[in-house]
Amino acid sequence: MEFCGQKNIVAFLKRQLDPEKRLIQSLLFFGPEHLGKATLAYIFSQSLICEKKVWSGCGKCPSCRAYLKNFHPDVKILSNEDQEKSLIIEQARLSSEFLSYKPQLASLKILIIDGAENLTFEAQSAFLKILEEPPQQSLIILISSQIDRLLLTVRSRLLPLRFQSVANEEISVWLNKEKINPAEMEKAISYGLNKPGLIKKYLIDPSCYKKSQDARNNLDRILQSGFADKSRILEQIIKKEGSLDFNLKEWLQLGRENMLSEIFKNQNQTDTLNISLNDKIKLLKELTRAQSLLEQYNLNTRLLMENIFLA
Ligand SMILES: [Zn+2]
Repeated sequence: MEFCGQKNIVAFLKRQLDPEKRLIQSLLFFGPEHLGKATLAYIFSQSLICEKKVWSGCGKCPSCRAYLKNFHPDVKILSNEDQEKSLIIEQARLSSEFLSYKPQLASLKILIIDGAENLTFEAQSAFLKILEEPPQQSLIILISSQIDRLLLTVRSRLLPLRFQSVANEEISVWLNKEKINPAEMEKAISYGLNKPGLIKKYLIDPSCYKKSQDARNNLDRILQSGFADKSRILEQIIKKEGSLDFNLKEWLQLGRENMLSEIFKNQNQTDTLNISLNDKIKLLKELTRAQSLLEQYNLNTRLLMENIFLA
């Protein structure tokens, strides 16, 4: 499927392919999930390592072929799947070592870290050294949907590119090109929250959408209900194995999307929480804290949730 949305970012990245231009060496792709941050990082990387330096790569040169087989000696990708919990200092050390060697097949070395928020603070500090003086012929792309978990000193050394939700008209044009049947297309768009990635996921497996939307609705229901209903909904979530983790992840995502769209006055945000900005900030802080406590300690989850929603 063709890439959808983020026209300004795509145009900016295409300009970086100009051999006359000095490449910007440290980038931060940030914004909500399902907007194509990782996909675009991969497309951009292949364009850079391709011998012909064409957008998306020619697909035929030895460098492109190695890349497509996930076997390129000059590209290192630390992806979300590799790191369930945290990215540790050892990986930061190995990554800087990787960048310090001369490229073998391409004209530069590329390091992509997807889910950069999973870098521990120690690992982020270790990365600072590379970001302060990136080796020549190297590019670092950090990808994150939770930039509040990145150190300010790290963020300030990266050129930030913010991914935004995509207007429905643009999504329709994209789906039309893929020859998706109109009824299915309409349904996917209505479910997709202006996120091409979510729409794609939905078209492949319609049930995945429901799970994530149910979790988001749970938060809305909890916030809008009285005491007894709040406790009942929380109880149901806590009782079901793995459900609190999943809900918490969706709630944080929803909270962050709401904050971003308020700050940047994004008209395309369709999934909104009906509480004041101050309450959103407070809720987001508490949920972030709860998530990190639950990751680190064996706590009484019920008490933790009651403190946030019932206190
Ligand atoms: Zn190529």
